[in-house]
Amino acid sequence: MKYSLVEPMGGSRLSTTDEHLKAVSSKEWNWHPDLPVAVSPLFSWPPQPVATLRWFATNWLPMTEYLIYALMAWATWALLVPPLEQMQTLSWGWVLQLWARNLILMIIFAQGLHQWLYGWKKQEDDYKFDRRGLAKNARIFLWNDQYWDNFTYTLLSGVTFWTFYDVIVWMGYANGWAPMMTIESNPIWFFALFLLMPVFQSFHFYWLHRTLHIPWIYKRVHAVHHRSVSIAPWSGFSMHPIEHIGYMGLLLIFLAVPAHPIHFIFMGYWLALATATSHAGFENLVLGDKAHLKIGSFHHQLHHRYFECNYGNPEMPWDNWFGSYHDGSPEATERVRETKKRMHTQS
Ligand SMILES: [Zn+2]
Ligand SMILES: [Zn+2]
Repeated sequence: MKYSLVEPMGGSRLSTTDEHLKAVSSKEWNWHPDLPVAVSPLFSWPPQPVATLRWFATNWLPMTEYLIYALMAWATWALLVPPLEQMQTLSWGWVLQLWARNLILMIIFAQGLHQWLYGWKKQEDDYKFDRRGLAKNARIFLWNDQYWDNFTYTLLSGVTFWTFYDVIVWMGYANGWAPMMTIESNPIWFFALFLLMPVFQSFHFYWLHRTLHIPWIYKRVHAVHHRSVSIAPWSGFSMHPIEHIGYMGLLLIFLAVPAHPIHFIFMGYWLALATATSHAGFENLVLGDKAHLKIGSFHHQLHHRYFECNYGNPEMPWDNWFGSYHDGSPEATERVRETKKRMHTQS
């Protein structure tokens, strides 16, 4: 490996014996995880059953983001969903209630992380990928300011389309056109679906995202998301409305796949709220001296830096299969730069 392995530069509050602090910095990055970037072994050939079990166990068993969204989905179902009878017919009351819930949660996640990491700088630059911060006085952004631009796209367009699909699926559950199961009727499917949902999501995201990178579509739609090169929590859900329609459209699978409403609520949180964590710009949230919550995605951070790579996420190895995987190495950077040049000179 050709990376310069160095201890993090001054001021780190973490013990150097801490396993997480195998901090690696390079010319390009303030910090990056061990390379190559890990992807799920679920589809490896020959099969790797032990590694696959370990992947699921580390993603679900400790207090991870997956589990937090699953618990939130359960609490939402128990306490915050309008009665199904009410949702049989369209009316402003319950629609606005869903919209307000989505809006408040998005603000809590994105602004909470933003304030912690970029406002109060609680962990300084520990586990921060990019040395830069958010762009200011940059004319490509609304009001020349990345923060306010990202904030506006997220709340005006993102939360609106999220709520739009929520309304359709809830009406489906209320009127019986979406197949609803109970935990008692099929407990195995209930748990299996939690493991499968990130795989569906990865499938949908990869293909939608590849389409968005076709130069003609990229220029008109996806460029809005990519103006944020140095990403931060509000950048994740900052997309062109057409991209929101396609991205959140995955929620419509619940009109076909038998599921419990908790799965559907989980998927909404995973699609929308997890954009704030996956674009946080930091690998870990440091809570106290020892506790870390893995939040960021170096896999996607590489996409924002080099564009024509890592269209998917680590849940499925689409990028590995289709030659668009950037493992974080300088050789991959070189290859991706060539691809980018080729794609954009042809268009
Ligand atoms: Zn992209
Ligand atoms: Zn992104």
